[in-house]
Amino acid sequence: VKFVYDFTEGNKDLKDLLGGKGANLAEMTNLGLPVPPGFTITTEACKVYLDSGEEPAALRDEVSAHLAALEERMGKKLGQADDPLLVSVRSGAKFSMPGMMDTVLNIGLSDKSVQGLAKQAGDERFAWDSYRRLIQMFGKTVLGVDGDLFEDALEAAKQAKKVSVDTELEAADLKKLVTKFKKVVKTEAGRDFPQDPREQMDLAITAVFDSWNGDRAKLYRRQERIPHDLGTAVNVCSMVFGNLGPDSGTGVAFTRDPASGHQGVYGDYLQNAQGEDVVAGIRNTVALAELEQIDKKSYDQLMQIMETLENHYKDLCDIEFTIERGQLWMLQTRVGKRTAGAAFRIATQLVDQGLIDEAEALQRVTGAQLAQLMFPRFDEHAKVEQIGRGIAASPGAAVGKAVFDSYTAVKWSRSGEKVILVRRETNPDDLDGMIAAEGILTSRGGKTSHAAVVARGMGKTCVCGAEELEVDTKRRRMIVPGGHVVEEGDLISIDGSSGKVYLGEVPVVPSPVVEYFEGRMHAGADDADELVEAVHRIMAFADRKRRLRVRANADNAEDALRARRFGAQGIGLCRTEHMFLGDRRELVERLILADTETEREESLKELLPLQRQDFVEIFEAMDGLPVTIRLLDPPLHEFLPDITELSVRVALAESRQEPHENDLRLLQAVHRLHEQNPMLGLRGVRLGLVIPGLFTMQVRAIAEAAAERKAAKGDPRAEIMIPLVGTVQELEIVREEADRVIAEVEAASGAQLKLAIGTMIELPRAALTAAQIAEAAEFFSFGTNDLTQTVWGFSRDDVEASFFTAYLEKGIFGVSPFETIDRDGVGSLVKAAAEAGRATRPGLKLGVCGEHGGDPESVHFFHEVGLDYVSCSPFRIPVARLEAGRAAS
Ligand code: PEP
Ligand code: MG
Repeated sequence: VKFVYDFTEGNKDLKDLLGGKGANLAEMTNLGLPVPPGFTITTEACKVYLDSGEEPAALRDEVSAHLAALEERMGKKLGQADDPLLVSVRSGAKFSMPGMMDTVLNIGLSDKSVQGLAKQAGDERFAWDSYRRLIQMFGKTVLGVDGDLFEDALEAAKQAKKVSVDTELEAADLKKLVTKFKKVVKTEAGRDFPQDPREQMDLAITAVFDSWNGDRAKLYRRQERIPHDLGTAVNVCSMVFGNLGPDSGTGVAFTRDPASGHQGVYGDYLQNAQGEDVVAGIRNTVALAELEQIDKKSYDQLMQIMETLENHYKDLCDIEFTIERGQLWMLQTRVGKRTAGAAFRIATQLVDQGLIDEAEALQRVTGAQLAQLMFPRFDEHAKVEQIGRGIAASPGAAVGKAVFDSYTAVKWSRSGEKVILVRRETNPDDLDGMIAAEGILTSRGGKTSHAAVVARGMGKTCVCGAEELEVDTKRRRMIVPGGHVVEEGDLISIDGSSGKVYLGEVPVVPSPVVEYFEGRMHAGADDADELVEAVHRIMAFADRKRRLRVRANADNAEDALRARRFGAQGIGLCRTEHMFLGDRRELVERLILADTETEREESLKELLPLQRQDFVEIFEAMDGLPVTIRLLDPPLHEFLPDITELSVRVALAESRQEPHENDLRLLQAVHRLHEQNPMLGLRGVRLGLVIPGLFTMQVRAIAEAAAERKAAKGDPRAEIMIPLVGTVQELEIVREEADRVIAEVEAASGAQLKLAIGTMIELPRAALTAAQIAEAAEFFSFGTNDLTQTVWGFSRDDVEASFFTAYLEKGIFGVSPFETIDRDGVGSLVKAAAEAGRATRPGLKLGVCGEHGGDPESVHFFHEVGLDYVSCSPFRIPVARLEAGRAAS
């Protein structure tokens, strides 16, 4: 293998091997741009070093050969006493990574060659300034000396001289500073600053390798999900000098504005300085446009090069350059980072310029960026007082008065107050409060806790698991670190994108992108902003490209209508359990408690018209589009009071000798229904098989609602979905009854209802026997929440809060499998079940309705395995549309 590549040997596509910086230096070299000659040591060499603790045997010789060629070309030797070749050593991983060793400049200078450099440049000050920079950078990044010690010494030298900027230090001052710096190195590093130029270079190369495993680099990789085994490349580049006087300088430039995307002259320039001065902000830079006055020739050339780069990379590039005595040199370029808004604008601008096509434009934006643009945000200029930080569970910015129970949330919001519902954790009882609140804050639970999942579904801001906040619901307050107490009614602000919690009211700005999706702002209108125009066009590109259809998880007309505005092509999951809460809970209670057939039938009879009305409204909202209604799924105890509360109530009543007949019956029922593992218990299709009449009532309500809509000249397209099926027999039994009921309603109404009956695939056994199940199912919808839970054996309600952090830290997975589909495990079951199902029933309609349906990476997977649609919460529909388009292009 070859471990070293000359800049003339690589190209921009070799990022894995040469790192981003090295690959782009090679690309620019081959474009004929003025790049100082040099070479790149590959990531492979780094990997060998990291694995074995030793640099590969061949590396030293290869570096020698490349160095010799470089010396030959430059006509001088590294560190040569009378005229030294100097080089920079810079890290360059595939992804740019803060926390890694950055740059050591001026390698090759020593007590001797500094004299030679002074003579050659005709500038003693410059030579000593370069030498002190070398010792400073080398001392800090290679030898690990505290950088402040050098800064302090530099500061002291300036004070002694009574000057404010380092350019005012003269050669003699700098000479003294070098002596001082060398002393710092000796005492702090326990060794002399190396005088041998090759030793300097080799040590710097090893230091770059080592910095791959620095704590900050590791942390950054974990956060950004960058694999730990990529390694970094090392670039050795001949030095050019921006600190050779006023006709020299250094700068950074963007080919267009990374914040707005506008083309123009963006960047900073610093006269008579070396690169790190700009980054360190030591002296004030001037706007790049001013370079035109300072050095017109270099400025014009730079503009020319920027155009070349944009046309070549067909994207926004950022650039580092240096001017040495009027000669422009390119030190780095890369496709530049940009804000989410600029990503959309730039993509459409490049299409208009004819540089990229629509398919490519879709690759230039991401669903995550779109999601970011869809949430209202805190004004970034606002003053804030942070009191805690939890998990960013559902993005957005919410401000309101802290309330500690659902009842108060509802009451206060009805009287016009904005509230934040603060709970230890939430449960289905809190639903009303969650709906009423601006945002939800919990001190326990992870990204799939009840609060997180429900809040995401509602598009409501949520921070969960903010553990340092001590929530005391009884006394209606929470204690924040430091002892401050937030009482009921105190204003707090929560940021669901960062997980931060603030005291007081932080000002919020609404998202124009949501205004657009909601139809309150129109693309093409006079007042529409550029961002909205760009989003509008990119969404059109995505809709043209995508094969996957996008449906919504919605269980009321309001959500259905919003979903439609956001582009939903139907409802993929209407969870009927939400219709059994609130006022209807009592009816459900009566159903559960019924002792006799008659009692049961009566409560079902009362529920029927209510259910029917629910469906009529949803069918109307989704007229002409498919609506998949799932029959009741959760364990019944969820509809009954909490066992402890009820026990207390009964005991109290007993001791006071008050009547408690009903509560006692209720308590007995709660005991009877109590399960150790309710999620693996009496729920889903099992309920339908065990509670006579329940599913029948629901099917009748659906059929009658469809008939009613038909009679009103509507176009209802209902699909009935049976949850938690594990074997085809379960489905067959439910089906038989459902078919009978539908036939009855058809006969009575005279309408042809064409109701499809299908199943969820959310248990491993269902996936494994998909071929048989497809005999009885007209469609499959993968319930990847339960499927993930059962395939991994992870409780979806508990694990994220308990041990996922440890798992993520140990790298067992990079992201929760409840968030992004686990391709290898759960995903392969989905794929196999999809194939098996279609083998039995060609054209079997396949969808997914678990949380993964709105997750960008998962959407790509569902596209690949050939599903027909994904279904997700209304707010994630635009993201799903975009990602489906990206997956197909
Ligand atoms: C699922 O399990 O993926 C699903 C959509 O159903 P629920 O989340 O309601 O259990
Ligand atoms: Mg489920």
